[in-house]
Amino acid sequence: MAQLDDLPPLRDVIAAHGLDARKSLGQNFLLDLNLTSRIARSAGSLEDCTVLEIGPGPGGLTRALLAAGAKKVVAIEKDSRCLPALAEISARYPGRLEVVEGDALKLDPVALTGGGNIRIAANLPYNVGTQLLLNWITTPDWPPFWSSLTLMFQKEVGERITAPPGSKAYGRLGVLAGWRCKGGILFDISPKAFTPPPKVTSAVVHLTPNPAPLPCELTALERITAAAFGQRRKMLRSSLKALSPEAEQLVEQAGIEPTARAEEIDIAGFVNLANVFRAAGAV
Ligand code: SAM
Repeated sequence: MAQLDDLPPLRDVIAAHGLDARKSLGQNFLLDLNLTSRIARSAGSLEDCTVLEIGPGPGGLTRALLAAGAKKVVAIEKDSRCLPALAEISARYPGRLEVVEGDALKLDPVALTGGGNIRIAANLPYNVGTQLLLNWITTPDWPPFWSSLTLMFQKEVGERITAPPGSKAYGRLGVLAGWRCKGGILFDISPKAFTPPPKVTSAVVHLTPNPAPLPCELTALERITAAAFGQRRKMLRSSLKALSPEAEQLVEQAGIEPTARAEEIDIAGFVNLANVFRAAGAV
């Protein structure tokens, strides 16, 4: 197994600090240094950037990011039991690791990192991972404050983020991510690599901002996709009726068959729908 630094092995860190994993915090720790290094390398060149890490836990990925040369890592951790272990990493890499205790859903990432070139990398807690991703891809300003996202999710969530039209996994998340980002799943990670092992396979997703998403108002696209996929088995002329009694004509005006279903519509189609419904004052 790779030797990243002269800090104790993660298993010893977990034992020394009594970090028994808590399900309520989505704690499945990744102890395989080959994998943490692979994730860190997947994040791209780190020398000139600040990496925002969510949920460092005992610090496996944090150590890999620092060993890979990250200029600075700002890590948000909700579990105060992890702070002493993380302080040992800070001492090993003076001035390069800032640990913030708190809930990543409630903290402002721009204020914490101070702006600049920010990459986000994390083995995300399963219970808040999708919401964090949605927050990052639906920032009002675009391009956003981050230049890349390298994130581990349950594989099923990774597939929803990167799903093409027509697939079972295609939905709201795939449309929003596909509209604003480029990228995909880089590799899977077996449950066996974690302590404790989760029930399902994980996947590492890498996304970069699409510099020129098709012109469309974010809120319009969010409302159209929520209505369309909220009743994904229905034809659009029915599922979008809640937004406008003229739904059938508006769908036609967007160049789409009113009998089509949400999962058949590609991102350009949803953008057309959002723009036509917005112009009609329906979203
Ligand atoms: N990065 C470590 C690793 O790869 O082994 C731990 C990953 S574990 C899947 C998720 C981590 O996120 C845990 O350390 C947990 O305490 C933390 N966490 C859970 N909810 C959080 C939240 N809302 N904000 C910040 N950290 C959170």
